[in-house]
Amino acid sequence: MYYGFHNSISGKRGYAAALDAAEALGTTAAQLFAKSPRSWKTRRLKPGEAEAFRDALTIYDLGRTAIHASYLVNLGAAGELWEKSVFSLADDLYKAALLGVDYVVVHPGSGDPERVREGALRALSLAPPGPRLLLENVAGGGRKVGRSLEELAGLIEGTRHGVCFDTCHAFAAGYPLRESPGAVIDELADVIGLENVPLIHLNDSRGGLGSNIDHHANLGEGEIGGSLAKVVTDERLKDKTFIMETPKEYDHQNLAVFLEWVGMG
Ligand SMILES: [Zn+2]
Ligand SMILES: [Zn+2]
Repeated sequence: MYYGFHNSISGKRGYAAALDAAEALGTTAAQLFAKSPRSWKTRRLKPGEAEAFRDALTIYDLGRTAIHASYLVNLGAAGELWEKSVFSLADDLYKAALLGVDYVVVHPGSGDPERVREGALRALSLAPPGPRLLLENVAGGGRKVGRSLEELAGLIEGTRHGVCFDTCHAFAAGYPLRESPGAVIDELADVIGLENVPLIHLNDSRGGLGSNIDHHANLGEGEIGGSLAKVVTDERLKDKTFIMETPKEYDHQNLAVFLEWVGMG
């Protein structure tokens, strides 16, 4: 099992800063944005930055890393927005390949699922091989694609993409993680196949069951509560990577809760 947080890349060390933060916390995995998640602007690699990142991966012995794509990406869109989305995702896939990052996580977007499928494959075709693309389940609302596991299964069918399972989003989309976490994992196994779910976003939820509200809470303090412990201790998920996207100022608290749940506290 690998675990860690979504870490910042601000500061002199650039991308390696996210790994410095993981090391400082004593975690074994990390997620980062390769550029500002709310802008189309890309971010250039500085000289030596990729090497520093790769060195840090080795020195800190970090098991798993992920890049989270921009929030602006909408692979279900039409026209220019689709093009920009494909290029933005391809840029993240390229960075991941260069940095030695394992996964690139993207929210499918809204609109036409067939466009999402096409967009994901197109982005991969523009980038060098290496990272595995993971489509994340979303909290829903509007014409959002990827609220149900069946829909995600359709998006990855016949590809080598996988799924990133976000517990907050699943709960907000109506999956009863508070009442029956084991049954939700059963469904994940049946519909997606756990070999296709290498990464779990471990977040509690401010919004209620089926609320479609994407608002993360500290572990154990949201609407899912202590039932999240059953997710992290599920035998079937023992080889997975858990990334917490909880309020940043509570990293130490969330880490302590996580470690207690898995019996390492
Ligand atoms: Zn996400
Ligand atoms: Zn997430």
